[in-house]
Amino acid sequence: MDFDLKKLLRPHILGIKPYSSARDEYSGKIGVFLDANENPYGALTGESFNRYPDPYQADIKERLADIKGVKPSQIFLGNGSDEAIDLLMRAFCTPGKDNIILLPPTYGMYEVSASINDVEIKKVPLTEDFQLKPDEILNAVDANSKVIFICSPNNPSGNKMDRNQIRQILSEFNGLVVVDEAYIDFSDEPSFTTELDKFPNLLVMQTFSKAWGLANLRIGMAYASEEIIRILNLIKPPYNISGLTQQKVLDSLQKAEKIHDLVHQVFEEKVFLENKLSQFVFVKKIYPSHANFLLVKMKKARDVYEFLINQMIILRDRSKVELCEDCLRISLGTRVENNALLEALNTYQSNRL
Ligand SMILES: *Cc1c(COP(=O)(O)O)cnc(C)c1O
Repeated sequence: MDFDLKKLLRPHILGIKPYSSARDEYSGKIGVFLDANENPYGALTGESFNRYPDPYQADIKERLADIKGVKPSQIFLGNGSDEAIDLLMRAFCTPGKDNIILLPPTYGMYEVSASINDVEIKKVPLTEDFQLKPDEILNAVDANSKVIFICSPNNPSGNKMDRNQIRQILSEFNGLVVVDEAYIDFSDEPSFTTELDKFPNLLVMQTFSKAWGLANLRIGMAYASEEIIRILNLIKPPYNISGLTQQKVLDSLQKAEKIHDLVHQVFEEKVFLENKLSQFVFVKKIYPSHANFLLVKMKKARDVYEFLINQMIILRDRSKVELCEDCLRISLGTRVENNALLEALNTYQSNRL
């Protein structure tokens, strides 16, 4: 492998001087702060949101580094993983020239973000059972291919990808390989963060939106070499994670060990729902899932979807997505929510079939 970060980046990026925020120039927490044009009296509600937050989220990164076994300087935090995806496009892909490689069916934001940035998309579909085709992926690479996005466990199919095939792509592609682990907490797989030292072209994305239950706060993580993280920090908006979010995330990290209970509860709901769903005559296949959702193939999926919408039960219609024909994606709810779904499907089965 011949990975050269400087060559991979858009040429102008290395010359950028970051915005130097007021809080960059003096990092102490105590002082008379007359540098950032803030309101010194506090908010109208009496809450103390009047000061700008830490632009580099040092407290969170210190905790996360501990938990994940990486250095704080190997962590980037974004306004959702979606911000990291967008920054990667902007750092590496020259609009109208470079391309990224996507492996459908997969998470929709990679394509949206590429399109917004006028970055060409090459697609190499997964196999019928949603695994990678490493040789075809590597064959699709050309001189302008900058990033390959691998989602594992994959959304919307729920499976984890073969680790050796991911490693093969990492070692044979000279560009950046993103392994999106949004659902890793639900899986028994070790995270690819454990392989960051082996692969300088690896970037692992995770998020607080799923297992951590903080989707509303908008915060996602990227783990990579210090060099790559430095670039993301260079081009991000200075105060991209609000102070309120930072506080709530820190509170959650204090209780990090409880995540296992939550994941176990989700696992039990998965077994419960899989078992019940498999009894409906219109359900053709439930794909094995290492995430907190099930991809389910059924007769007349669109019909089922619309019936449920009328009952105010909303699933994700993936029936028009490549390799997911006739499939709906079902997020695992609480037992009460899952029972509401099952009851509605019972009604569907007795009335519509
Ligand atoms: C939900 C999800 C994310 C999370 O995005 P956030 O912006 O962090 O909420 C990232 N990747 C995949 C594959 C997802 O399904």
